[in-house]
Amino acid sequence: MPVQFCTLCVNPSTRPNIVFNKDGVCPVCVFEESKKHETVDWDARRAELRAICERAKRKTRSTYDCIVTVSGGKDSLRQAVFARDELGMNPLLVSCVYPPEQVTDLGAANLSNLVELGFDTVSLGLNPQLWKRLMREGFFRFGNWCKSTEMALYAIPVHVAIAYQIPLLFYGENPAFTIGEKHGRLDGDASRLKQGNTIAGGPAALLPSDVTPQDSYFYFYPPDHEMDAARLEMTYLGYYMPEWSGRNNAIFAMERGLKPRHETPEQTGDLWGFSCLDEDFSIVNQFLKFLKLGFGRVTDQVCEAINAGLMTREEGLKLVEQFDGKCDATFIRRFCAYLEISEDDFWKTSEQFRNPQIWKTDAKTTWSEGERAQ
Ligand SMILES: [Zn+2]
Repeated sequence: MPVQFCTLCVNPSTRPNIVFNKDGVCPVCVFEESKKHETVDWDARRAELRAICERAKRKTRSTYDCIVTVSGGKDSLRQAVFARDELGMNPLLVSCVYPPEQVTDLGAANLSNLVELGFDTVSLGLNPQLWKRLMREGFFRFGNWCKSTEMALYAIPVHVAIAYQIPLLFYGENPAFTIGEKHGRLDGDASRLKQGNTIAGGPAALLPSDVTPQDSYFYFYPPDHEMDAARLEMTYLGYYMPEWSGRNNAIFAMERGLKPRHETPEQTGDLWGFSCLDEDFSIVNQFLKFLKLGFGRVTDQVCEAINAGLMTREEGLKLVEQFDGKCDATFIRRFCAYLEISEDDFWKTSEQFRNPQIWKTDAKTTWSEGERAQ
């Protein structure tokens, strides 16, 4: 099947779980169109959110009435401030911190900045040796090093919610509306997040034979019966916020001290420099995704920018061609050093995940470090 692109933005048909309508339009554009024609009743949504908050305030057996999962990035800052200042909630921020070898100075500074806005925060760090081993498993077996770390990032706040008896967890935006990736319902319900594309099934498939589920406790969601007994509610805040977008959140967060990246799109495959600031290896993962699915972060950013009226589809296509999937060799070198693998292993493994239905090999192409054929 050739790759199909949304006729209004540049969303590709290779995105997992995306379904285009009969006119070849992606679900994000359908949703954005409905917003323009004001078919979304934002007042009704706000009333629904208020009811969710009231329930949590009544149900909580803690000082806190909700949890916001944070990395210190733009979306987490926006959610934390919104929950506290606009919804009148008392949120506990929960973060899973990267090991010292992985976290960037920028990430540490941004998380400190968020906490200094006046929040209580629980930060949990996991055994760095197992963390690295699972990343290596994810890279070699799935071409995706962050499978295990994503699992921990999602599971830890749920463990904290149960342990502290906090009944409500807030998340960012339903991915069905931002990138067109549908899991569960098309509303503010985030309870099906654990069935998400990259974390479905949990970490069992990644665990080396000498690692027990006990050793990897925080990579697993709590068992269903514990989650049911806790009667947790999980809610996408973005669904209730008409002004929610990556770009708006970044502007909001930068006004409150968030620092963006200084590298160029040519180095990072990132047009704006305010995504995934807490570590650099996600840039490598976007490159791997680019080999597998034919798109990276620039595609996501261009789709959002087209829908926000910031660029035309033609302008967006040029940026995608120019910058999508870019990853400077220095990031790859550091990634290999961290995982303790050779660069040769990196390139051989990456090539195994290149999708031959998307990519054509140019006979004249010779491969060398940091290069890729298109
Ligand atoms: Zn679209």
